[in-house]
Amino acid sequence: MERLCGCGPYTCPVIDLHTHSRASDGTDDPAQVLEAAAAAGVRVVALTDHDTTAGWRQAAEAVGRTGVALVRGTEISTRARTADGGVSVHLLSYLHDPDDPALRAEWDRTRTSRMDRARRMVDLLAQDYPLTWDDVVEQTGDEATVGRPHLADALVVAGVVASRDEAFATMLHAGSRYYVGHYAPDVAGAVRAVVAAGGVPVMAHPGAGKRGRIVDDETIAALADAGLAGLEVDHRDHDAPTRDRLRALARDLGLLVTGSSDYHGTGKLNRIGEHTTAPEVLEEIEARGTLGVVRP
Ligand code: AMP
Ligand code: FE
Ligand code: FE
Ligand code: ZN
Repeated sequence: MERLCGCGPYTCPVIDLHTHSRASDGTDDPAQVLEAAAAAGVRVVALTDHDTTAGWRQAAEAVGRTGVALVRGTEISTRARTADGGVSVHLLSYLHDPDDPALRAEWDRTRTSRMDRARRMVDLLAQDYPLTWDDVVEQTGDEATVGRPHLADALVVAGVVASRDEAFATMLHAGSRYYVGHYAPDVAGAVRAVVAAGGVPVMAHPGAGKRGRIVDDETIAALADAGLAGLEVDHRDHDAPTRDRLRALARDLGLLVTGSSDYHGTGKLNRIGEHTTAPEVLEEIEARGTLGVVRP
């Protein structure tokens, strides 16, 4: 969808539809994400922790105090099956029923597998570096979805690396000998499950080739047929040609276009509000979702 409003991104109500808190691999509490949004002039923020809705309540409680509207979301770890194994796909879901049994069952399964996988990665890393499981537990809250960024933080505290980025570049990337995969549901099934739960599914950073393999246009077209609502086009992991290509694909397939920061607190360079979504796109997402936006 073209941007219909004539205003630049910072005179429109600034809408950022992808952020993380300590409920997964961000470094802010959910309320602090809204505080960071307010400080940056962001008026609407979606909290989209990996495979959980655990941060929603605390974030919603901060809406009145911060004046920032909240879109309740989740970033679902999924996999697109290919002949040679599969491609990791992150699927954003907005405004779904958090108690939907099918979604909850998948997230429980994924989070359990993520925990097993993190333990196995620590076992491998501990063969070469001074790292224990307790070091990782210190980096995760009770309810957090455990991810490689927590291992990275533990490696930083242990003095093995200087930053999350260095940890990913040297020992946590998917090609590393310390890397272990985790369970993730098939992406087409996840799209259908999100729609069945009253949610609005948008593919996160579909062209982020630096992170690993990406899906092809045919796969995205098939997902559009399954109910995919949009593509996250404006994201720092997309260069200008990639954004142009994805915008054209979204237009061809009748998909919404979103933009967002993928803010992770101090865990990544991404600044909250650095990419934004047009107000009429948020309107459409809200019209399709079963929950409303929590407004001040
Ligand atoms: P996982 O979900 O456990 O496989 O870890 C993937 C997550 O790690 C992504 O969602 C990002 O939040 C984060 N990540 C990936 N690459 C980097 C990086 N270079 N620096 C910091 N965080 C990263
Ligand atoms: Fe993340
Ligand atoms: Fe992601
Ligand atoms: Zn994300």
